[in-house]
Amino acid sequence: MKCPFCNHEDTQVLDSRVLEDGDAIRRRRRCLSCDRRFTTYERAELMMPTVVKRDGSRMAFDPARIRASMDLALRKLTVPSQEVDAAIDRIRESILLTGAREINTEEIGDRVLEELLQLDQVAYIRFASVYKSFNDIDEFVQAIHEMQRDIQANHERAPAAKEPTKKVMTPQQKKQGKPS
Ligand SMILES: [Zn+2]
Repeated sequence: MKCPFCNHEDTQVLDSRVLEDGDAIRRRRRCLSCDRRFTTYERAELMMPTVVKRDGSRMAFDPARIRASMDLALRKLTVPSQEVDAAIDRIRESILLTGAREINTEEIGDRVLEELLQLDQVAYIRFASVYKSFNDIDEFVQAIHEMQRDIQANHERAPAAKEPTKKVMTPQQKKQGKPS
């Protein structure tokens, strides 16, 4: 760290403190040449990665787009807005934590799917059907089976907290009129 007064290269750190909100460190420094004191602030650079689309084009990460696609999947369903906001925050955070410079839309879509699975299974299917652009009914059925397996796995991992808001019935159960 250069001294801002005399441009000397060597400074001594006298004191380091994490600021109250925890997102910056303040350091008191002393110039080893002119002995003047100054303060520096150190902040983590939190940058969302660039989004790479399927056609290879790039765009800035935009949570509003995620919100719009989730709202579309959740239309006419009863999921509270704040739960959707919290889900989007988790998606942003998990993407930030990868530290990657670029992220492709499939990866973002997978994270959206994970959150929708917790919020509402109908929304999950709606989103998956568009996002995975099913070619035929078999792929669709396959996706539903995968979803049911994921739900099963989630139940085993966190039985109470991760309880989905809606139950999906298998065709068998539908005939018998019993939820799973
Ligand atoms: Zn100096």
